[in-house]
Amino acid sequence: MARIHLVNPSTQSFGVAVITPRWLYVLAAATGSQWGDPQIVDETLDQLDFDAIDAGDVVGIGIHTGNALRGYEIGREVRKRGAWVVFGGVHATLFPDEAATHGSAHAVVRGDGDLIWPRVVADCLAGKPLPVYDGGRIDGADFASARWDLLPKGRYMWASVQTVRGCPKHCSFCSVWRTDGQEPRQRSVDRVVREIVELRRLGFRFIALADDNFYPVTFDDLAQARRRSDSTRLHDLEAMRAERFALMARLAELPEDLVFYTQITMEAAEDSEFLEAMKRAKIRGALVGVESVTREGLKDIYKGFNLAGDELVARLRAFRRHGIHVLGSFIFGLPSDTRETFDATVALAEQADLTFAQFVLLTPFPGTVDFEKWSAEENHRRTIIDGVPLTQHWLIPVENRPRLYTAHPTMSLEEIRVGTQHAWDRFYSWRHVWARSRVVASIRARIAFVLISKLYRQMYANTGIATDSARVQRSVRWARWIGMACRRLFLGRPMPNLAVPGDQLQQAH
Ligand code: SF4
Repeated sequence: MARIHLVNPSTQSFGVAVITPRWLYVLAAATGSQWGDPQIVDETLDQLDFDAIDAGDVVGIGIHTGNALRGYEIGREVRKRGAWVVFGGVHATLFPDEAATHGSAHAVVRGDGDLIWPRVVADCLAGKPLPVYDGGRIDGADFASARWDLLPKGRYMWASVQTVRGCPKHCSFCSVWRTDGQEPRQRSVDRVVREIVELRRLGFRFIALADDNFYPVTFDDLAQARRRSDSTRLHDLEAMRAERFALMARLAELPEDLVFYTQITMEAAEDSEFLEAMKRAKIRGALVGVESVTREGLKDIYKGFNLAGDELVARLRAFRRHGIHVLGSFIFGLPSDTRETFDATVALAEQADLTFAQFVLLTPFPGTVDFEKWSAEENHRRTIIDGVPLTQHWLIPVENRPRLYTAHPTMSLEEIRVGTQHAWDRFYSWRHVWARSRVVASIRARIAFVLISKLYRQMYANTGIATDSARVQRSVRWARWIGMACRRLFLGRPMPNLAVPGDQLQQAH
């Protein structure tokens, strides 16, 4: 019988991974049981074994811009072996034709796959897939829960659960608000809690709330809605906010050893009631897109709702006051950046008590406002590397791909790359990491903190920014080793009998 395969492509395999790629397990659930359990391959763990694919099998490959090239390589190879090739994910949604040309796709799914996937599989197995399926943006109530029973044991440190899709902001470097939409779609509280209970039963203590923006309604949004004569919008926003609080109240009832982590905008720091609810809900960490420490930098990327200077430090510290550790995300290479920006950014990150930080290079990703402007420029369109136009940079072989794409008014691209590498080196030096590890109490927790800091830096800084392939390979080996050492520190004792809070109460009535 033909089988269904779901593949998360990656050129680097680490043997273990920090976070589960949620989409694999959601589509596995959406597949249903009529064709048997799907075969799941996450190449961040191990490379796909092509010999495991037979003629007539269906292979679903999910791609974002960063792994599209590897995804296309897989598509071509499995099609040669007679399999049905289907692409999905953000990148395939943006460029369905490219998946057919470069990845030999029989079919491409645009938008959310949760509901449409079984139909795509059935069409393939009947030998008549459509070239494109439009999954659209489904309602929060229709988001599928993941098939966690299919997870390989002991290979992921964190599980991932989604509570909301979409983001009302419009940052110029980000495609989320255009692909997932600006109207947040929240999942029902009960389904989120059931999934988390299932994960804790399996032994997961650390769970990423893999949301686009966990704080979808700000004080500012409410104030603007209050000024409207029609109160419908205000009621909608208030209901959305109330649902966030309802979710956090349920999370608060779960076992105390759970640790949640999410992504949030900085505006949440002015909302003490929200931060307190997060704390009670055991949301101990959040990725906050700080992006730039200057007003000019924030203007460059349409992120005027962020703050700069002392106000920024105060805001970021507010998270820590409420027990929420911040992973601050910064972008280098903005037009207003100067040679001083790198050190100033690291200094601010330290002053603001950030627990983790990431320093990324400004990259014009498709689907963003930045990309549209950048790719319209004649000199970018005319630049060809390895036979590929620069405006399709994700198709250039990784070893020859530029690390930066836009000429800077005052710095050379190499200066920006080296400055960025130094920022990682400084923030994650042994001395600094050990000093920051004081945020946790036990020695076991401090060791976990140090290892995860080093792992994070090896996985993301050295493999993403370095141009020297020996350094990249060394980093992969290091990350593999640290990952193996770390993973047990994150898992808890399974709790197979853990009840869903509120269930016994309902049964008693
Ligand atoms: S960067 Fe964050 S806040 Fe800005 S649009 Fe993307 S998800 Fe929303």
